Amino acid sequence: MMPDIFLYITAFLFGTAVGSFLNVCIYRIPRNVSIITPSSRCPSCNIPIKPWDNMPIVSYIFLGGKCRICKARISFRYPLVEFLNAVLYVLVLWKFGFAWHTIVYFLFCSALIVISFIDLDFQIIPDRITLAAIPIGLVVGSFLLPDPFLRYSLLGYKTSIIGFFVAIALLSRGGMGGGDIKMMAMVGSFMGWKAVLLTTFLGSFIGAVFGIFLMIFKGKGRKTKIPFGPFLALGTLITLFYGQEIFYWYFNR
Ligand SMILES: [Zn+2]
Repeated sequence: MMPDIFLYITAFLFGTAVGSFLNVCIYRIPRNVSIITPSSRCPSCNIPIKPWDNMPIVSYIFLGGKCRICKARISFRYPLVEFLNAVLYVLVLWKFGFAWHTIVYFLFCSALIVISFIDLDFQIIPDRITLAAIPIGLVVGSFLLPDPFLRYSLLGYKTSIIGFFVAIALLSRGGMGGGDIKMMAMVGSFMGWKAVLLTTFLGSFIGAVFGIFLMIFKGKGRKTKIPFGPFLALGTLITLFYGQEIFYWYFNR
């Protein structure tokens, strides 16, 4: 089993490295700053971070969660995002095996992380991610992904996505924002209409449970704005890893 363990460790390390880049995306995309240049800087003192202070997770621990220069606290979110991304990469490897399509699922999971944290911060889901991902999902998801549950004909995708847009626009006034709808279109482009239904159900259910929890235990009013993107992302991940099993269980009881 040694080669397997080696693969999983590699996936984890690769996940933390990509996660480090995701932190840059989460910070810069909603602020409309280039994600390529300049190099990473401390948000407090604006001094460029040295490569050895910019290693995923490890540097945070060695620096005690503080900037080396100005000693300002570094948000715990940075190592958290790196760790989350790494765990998802391990799960993708476990679920889909080691093949070229693994990369597609890596990218898809990373996009969900970036969307979730930007939505938490700014209550927006950037078009730069969802609209860019839809054509990739259409092509890759329709023809190349091996999973029969996730793969549908291109025609099926197109009709389901357009149908979904129209249905939501007609049915929902408020509630889901425009960004959420484009995010579901992105999910549909990668995983088909079944996944969109299940994801919407799971995301709404988890979001509702969380909302009730906030009302009861934190005394928040019904008007409290809760970003929906993270819940949809959670629903998407459950669908990605267990959607087929959930559908099978539901229709074969
Ligand atoms: Zn600093």
